[in-house]
Amino acid sequence: MARAHNFNAGPGALPDSVLVELQAAVLEFGKTRAGIMEISHRSKAFEAVLESAQARLRRLLGVPEGWAILFQQGGASLQFHVLSLNLALPGEAPAFVDTGTWSTKAYEEAQRLCQPRKAWSGKGNAYTFIPSDAELDASAVAAAPWVHYTTNNTIRGTQFHRVPALGKPLLADMSSDICSRPVDVGAHEAIYAGAQKNLGPSGVTVVLLSPWALARQAEVKAARGGLPPMLDYAVQVENNSLYNTPSTFGIFALERVLAWVEAGGGLGPMAEKNTRKADLLYSELDRSPFWRCPVRPDSRSQMNVVWRLPTEDLEERFLKEADAAGFLGLKGHRSVGGCRASLYNAVEPASVAALVAYMRDFEAKNG
Ligand SMILES: *Cc1c(COP(=O)(O)O)cnc(C)c1O
Repeated sequence: MARAHNFNAGPGALPDSVLVELQAAVLEFGKTRAGIMEISHRSKAFEAVLESAQARLRRLLGVPEGWAILFQQGGASLQFHVLSLNLALPGEAPAFVDTGTWSTKAYEEAQRLCQPRKAWSGKGNAYTFIPSDAELDASAVAAAPWVHYTTNNTIRGTQFHRVPALGKPLLADMSSDICSRPVDVGAHEAIYAGAQKNLGPSGVTVVLLSPWALARQAEVKAARGGLPPMLDYAVQVENNSLYNTPSTFGIFALERVLAWVEAGGGLGPMAEKNTRKADLLYSELDRSPFWRCPVRPDSRSQMNVVWRLPTEDLEERFLKEADAAGFLGLKGHRSVGGCRASLYNAVEPASVAALVAYMRDFEAKNG
């Protein structure tokens, strides 16, 4: 086997021990006499998987009583649309904090459905930092029924290190940092996350909805004269994510990943591990002017670390040689270039230490 150090941005690394469990379950799952992909989503065996996945999320994230936990398809990208479809009236102006590509897309989907406003845009500063609450447009926030933000900006390498306190219901895209650290779920009204960064394979999207969100959804649904059932949060809640066939394998894999997180002590220890990994890499970036991290220090992401080299030629050589040396996925997003290491939960500190050693070696030869 030649499993390299995996810094892929998404789908990203999964824990080795979970992959071994999945491998076995593909052939034979529990007492079902069939593989996990070959049993009914309405069977007792799968029902137990679904319930366990929900219970683990509830425990790990501290999801308050009364919240719905859904497993949807279509990725975070479908939620960009579904969120505004279910939670904003056509004439309303929800506010969006635009910290990069994904929040821009959430805003653009809202434009099809209501009258959104940007409470802030990082476009003018190349999305290199996270705004403070005071930097947001107070009138846009005041006029909004809710405010949407992206907790971690996978492409730009920035991350909120606080929950904004705006006196408005908060909706968050947590795709790339969910379960990487403790989070105050109760300070939000809706949270969604594609699974393929920290929770499992692509094809499953976690959606958490508060009682406030569920009540508002009923109001919006009535005002819109009903919604397509697959895009209707109420239908999904009533059917416990089983209105149609969900990604059964994806939910099983997610449940196993969450079991792995719980066995490791939960989100406190996970956050410590993630901080340790990020510190290791950022110290290297700060050590030498050969590397340049464009992100303002207070806004640096612990999940996606981005940096540049002195020239694009050097970047190209670095990426090519790193790949050959066993470091996968270090190429920055195609929209921004440069380098990026994604340090999701399953990436071990030893992989980051090996990367740093490799970088020092590369600098010694090329600096
Ligand atoms: C990856 C990502 C998305 C897009 O997810 P899909 O599941 O591919 O739709 C959206 N938001 C953030 C923050 C992401 O990291």
